[in-house]
Amino acid sequence: MNKQLRKAVIAGNWKMNLLPAEAAALVEQLKPMAAGANCDVVLCAPFVDLQAAAAAAAGSNLKIGAQNCHWAASGAFTGEVSAQMLKEIGAEYVIVGHSERRTLFGDTNETVAKRTRAALDAGLTVILCVGEYLEQRQQNITVEVVRTQTKIGLAGVSADELSRIIIAYEPVWAIGTGLTATAAQANEVNKAIRDLLAELYGRDAADGAVIQYGGSMNAANAAELLAQPDVDGGLIGGASLKAADFAAIVRAASEG
Ligand code: PEP
Repeated sequence: MNKQLRKAVIAGNWKMNLLPAEAAALVEQLKPMAAGANCDVVLCAPFVDLQAAAAAAAGSNLKIGAQNCHWAASGAFTGEVSAQMLKEIGAEYVIVGHSERRTLFGDTNETVAKRTRAALDAGLTVILCVGEYLEQRQQNITVEVVRTQTKIGLAGVSADELSRIIIAYEPVWAIGTGLTATAAQANEVNKAIRDLLAELYGRDAADGAVIQYGGSMNAANAAELLAQPDVDGGLIGGASLKAADFAAIVRAASEG
């Protein structure tokens, strides 16, 4: 209904793929496509690729993001990377609370909230991921789960800061599996998230918020998903590693 208020954001999540030179090469391949895009395009790279990706993207419409950050500014946290470090090296975005971080590396709603806070404080835009497991969908508690994840993840985020938050609804059963939520399922949950944002921040702020869908989005299914009234873009894993497929998704978002 208010989709015209929002600019879609297509974000690629490269996960643990691509060496720095490969990352720079993929950025170069994507630049011409990004020049004509009528949506924001973000590439979320592994930490060690950020510098090369940001250098390659300089002066283009492509924005660079990271895939996680620690919540502390500095200190004795061996192996971790702070939000300020990401900002300094050229990242403008960071994914927080991806389901792989939650299931494989112990992220909780509370640590997700701390990472979100740190990222905002460092001046980054956050892509905050939420989504249910298959069993939770089968138990009909999807909306409850996603509302809780969103509410806790946003604890301490002000209405002004909401413009630097993107929520990515990613059903866990659809990530990397080739299974995709139907357009109706994606829109239903995205709308529930928007209604929660209206409760927390007011209807105007909620209507301006970008809420993506993620989970096996590809060149073939993107147009239908992105045409949904509450789907404002996508978080793309596998298909973001193939320039032609990712470009087709960006085209679909530009038209949707
Ligand atoms: C993701 O990693 O966020 C994702 C949605 O992956 P895929 O597109 O491969 O399902």
